[in-house]
Amino acid sequence: SQKTADISREKSGKLFEKAKTYFPGGVNSPVRAFKSVYGSPLFIEKGDKAHIWDADGNEFIDFCCSWGPLILGHNNTDIREAVIANIGNGLSFGAPTKLENELADLILYNNKYIDKIRFVSSGTEAVMSAIRLARGYTKRDKIVKFEGCYHGHSDSLLVKAGSGLVTFGETSSAGVPKSFADETLVIDLNDTEALTAVFEQFKDQIAAVIIEGVPANNGLLLQSKEYIHFLRAITKENGALLIFDEVITGFRLGFEGAAAYYDVQPDIITYGKIIGGGMPVGAYGASNELMACISPDGAVYQAGTLSGNPIAMAAGIATLTTLVQPAFYPTLNATTAAFVADLRAYIATKNYPVKIFSVASIFWFAFSELEQIQKANEIQAESMELYKVMHRELLNRGIYFGPSGYEVGFISAAHTTEDLEIAKKHIFAALDLVFQD
Ligand code: PMP
Repeated sequence: SQKTADISREKSGKLFEKAKTYFPGGVNSPVRAFKSVYGSPLFIEKGDKAHIWDADGNEFIDFCCSWGPLILGHNNTDIREAVIANIGNGLSFGAPTKLENELADLILYNNKYIDKIRFVSSGTEAVMSAIRLARGYTKRDKIVKFEGCYHGHSDSLLVKAGSGLVTFGETSSAGVPKSFADETLVIDLNDTEALTAVFEQFKDQIAAVIIEGVPANNGLLLQSKEYIHFLRAITKENGALLIFDEVITGFRLGFEGAAAYYDVQPDIITYGKIIGGGMPVGAYGASNELMACISPDGAVYQAGTLSGNPIAMAAGIATLTTLVQPAFYPTLNATTAAFVADLRAYIATKNYPVKIFSVASIFWFAFSELEQIQKANEIQAESMELYKVMHRELLNRGIYFGPSGYEVGFISAAHTTEDLEIAKKHIFAALDLVFQD
């Protein structure tokens, strides 16, 4: 098959040149810079339902969905109207508003895994606060994270594995003191032996183990249910807390996220993305006992000028009011399952070495022969070259995926049958191009 001609990036290219004079790398968050795919980043002008348009007027069906928050698509009527209805009352007071109560009530009434919640303004902040709570409650300093999970950019978590079964973390960013990284232990996912070893070696020192509900920041690394239950049991036995980072999986796998998906009770859960319907929000929640440790009730300090921002709360209320409808997740998940099944069927007839891993309305293309990919080191870096070819061809065909092969795709309730039919045809053609030799 023939490569499709490149779309115009003239206006986006000019904007990017200008942006480089303002921002490091021309962007306000690194992956946006398109370093891992072809061409310069597209500057997006608007979105409506499942579609986005860039500065050059190119239109795309969007499978990035702002990296997950837009489970109802772009420019959702209910969210837009809720935001507009509240905007005239002022943007921020730094004082309580009833909108915070309303969003909290929606969440807590429908989620049996947490008793109390605290709203913050990003996923990073939610996780950073959850870690502090775990340390404050247990009076221990060490935390365990997994290679291949991302938890935002706070110091304790910008840490990667060294070599060996259990390792002190090595900083994955300049500017993180080694002494901070020494408090973070990094092990492989889906490995009960490594978990056992870390608790043997650091007995009574581990405040918490943090894991993404379903790891979805470095491919989609589907863990076995048995492993998650093992993780729950071993943390409990050792007096360490289990933190589920559900910034992606919260309100995505279902209203009660990965906790309900695995039927497991974490000690602390962090949320972000969907909870704000596209506005900057994060949250963390836990039992009454744990949350009593947070200031002003307790000794763990955590605060925020814009926390519980009324406009963000309004967007969140409109979003979650839709998600709480009984048919919402079954419908969205069935739509995604059918889409993924059709992609897999095509791949099977062509015998292409690609796998599509999926859960709920999340999916990921792995250019690999492996039947399962559950650890970060099972992803081959070379396979990312194939993703680059597919990504470029898909953009040229009007299909927008995240600008790195490690990123997952999201389907929203705004993706119509027609959108998905069109997308499938283009994905088939792009795969044909990738594997034409
Ligand atoms: N945790 C997880 C699981 C995430 O996916 C992300 C963001 N992708 C974060 C934390 C950080 O969230 P934010 O970018 O809102 O700070």
